[in-house]
Amino acid sequence: MTALQPNAVIGIVGGGQLGRMSAVAAARLGYRTHILTQDATGPAAQVADAVTLGAYDDPAALEAFARAVDVVTFEFENISADALDHLSRHCPVRPSGHILRISQDRLAEKTFLSEAGIPLAPWHAVQNRADLHAAAEQLGLPLILKTTRNGYDGKGQMRVHDAAELDHAFDSLAPHPLVAEGMVDFASELSVMVARGTDGTIRCFDAVQNRHWQGILDLTLAPAPVMDDIADSARDLATKIAQALDLIGIMGVEMFLSRTGTLMVNEIAPRPHNSGHWTMDACPQDQFDLHIRAVAGLPLPPAVRHSDAVMKNLVGPEDMALWPDIVATPGHIPHLYGKEQALPGRKMGHVNLLFPFGSLPGEFGIRAALGSLATRCAAPDLAEQEG
Ligand code: AMP
Repeated sequence: MTALQPNAVIGIVGGGQLGRMSAVAAARLGYRTHILTQDATGPAAQVADAVTLGAYDDPAALEAFARAVDVVTFEFENISADALDHLSRHCPVRPSGHILRISQDRLAEKTFLSEAGIPLAPWHAVQNRADLHAAAEQLGLPLILKTTRNGYDGKGQMRVHDAAELDHAFDSLAPHPLVAEGMVDFASELSVMVARGTDGTIRCFDAVQNRHWQGILDLTLAPAPVMDDIADSARDLATKIAQALDLIGIMGVEMFLSRTGTLMVNEIAPRPHNSGHWTMDACPQDQFDLHIRAVAGLPLPPAVRHSDAVMKNLVGPEDMALWPDIVATPGHIPHLYGKEQALPGRKMGHVNLLFPFGSLPGEFGIRAALGSLATRCAAPDLAEQEG
């Protein structure tokens, strides 16, 4: 297929904030968007040209959606890859159902990445209790037991501290099979957003550091405060995975950086990603632009950064209570997703803070810049890091 012409229609499966920001990027490039969602007033539907209301596995809804669009992409992964295959009979689906099938199943993902020579945290497939005891022998304790599907924001996983907890953990998580992972004593968590176009061009944004609070991404620091060779290796890994998958579109690659400087991939997400939201203000063309360009078959511009940045997620009623402060603070660049209710743990928006290129401050500087937003941030080992 040649590149989509202006005014062509990009179909987006999923109605959340990633769909919303993708739709805005598509509009900037002169495309229309059509959302398949069950939420008529959700974040993406609010800014799109058209909506098909229906379940992601409803054949009638899929049929109507497919007929209305020129290309399909998706903004979340808990949809059926079979549904995407069905849609691909009508128009291109980017990224493909094949990639979704790998990324939405931790076992398939780990198997694929291992075979592609990508370093991972040590892991063991767990079909039954005997497997779990064998995993504990091999990986040691503590370990992390995870469901293979539908895990997000730390859900669908348990830490197992001693042998007495193994059976309880096995019974508590469903559905089976599960995956056991050795506990990585990481120095930090990094991620890379990588885009690949229809012509095979690969563009990687800078590696960033991610910090979580109660299992949910809280802060992203761009660039990651690590040595250049580690940041380069992180981008090399993301590139290698994008090539191995034959990706078209954007993908987030999450990694652990061990205390000895080794990178291990944790998971991949073949879609725009929360840890790429900093690009919206720190890069001339952001993750959503690159994603839409790839999906539309346009050339990909370089993924360059003109500023350093900190991205702070706005989660639940606690962060939304700070809204008057945020909009009154010069330098806080807010992005809200249009969700009506600020339920606990719900991602409502994010704030980007920019710093001149090459001058990302240290811990105390970041806290000072965040102002009242810093109160909920995890900032471990402050004294250790800044003496
Ligand atoms: P996940 O759902 O796999 O992205 O895991 C959510 C979070 O749990 C990660 O961001 C890490 O903070 C932590 N985590 C997951 N797997 C491991 C592991 N093998 N070792 C240490 N921490 C982990």
